[in-house]
Amino acid sequence: MVSDCIFCKIAGKEIPSDLVYEDEQVVAFRDRSPQAPVHVLVIPKKHVGSLLELKAEDKELAGHILTEVVPAIARKLEVAEDGFRLVVNTGENGNQTVKHLHFHLLGGRMMQWPPG
Ligand code: 5GP
Ligand code: ZN
Repeated sequence: MVSDCIFCKIAGKEIPSDLVYEDEQVVAFRDRSPQAPVHVLVIPKKHVGSLLELKAEDKELAGHILTEVVPAIARKLEVAEDGFRLVVNTGENGNQTVKHLHFHLLGGRMMQWPPG
């Protein structure tokens, strides 16, 4: 828990959010500024600053998010069949604005490539 981290506060329920998934290690909630009909942020409950701050001991957590949580949310929100995009903005050039690791799950419309 990092006291000035907005996503730590969301994970700790100090700040309300529209939760779509929760387990012991992870929460997922709707982005407050959605860029697609489905736009969910999947975060570890523990503070990890970015993808680059994942450690060897976080392998199980990272695998859990990718192999279980994201597919479960995609099915629940009915974007699994048509497809979706998973984005991890990292660092300055990645335009990461919140310094707590988050996976954007975007779906419900056709995505563009290259991304902006
Ligand atoms: P980033 O640019 O760091 O990859 O994405 C941060 C995302 O968090 C943005 O899409 C922004 O809309 C979202 N966001 C920032 N603060 C809040 C908040 O307090 N609640 C919710 N639900 N989303 C937030
Ligand atoms: Zn945090």
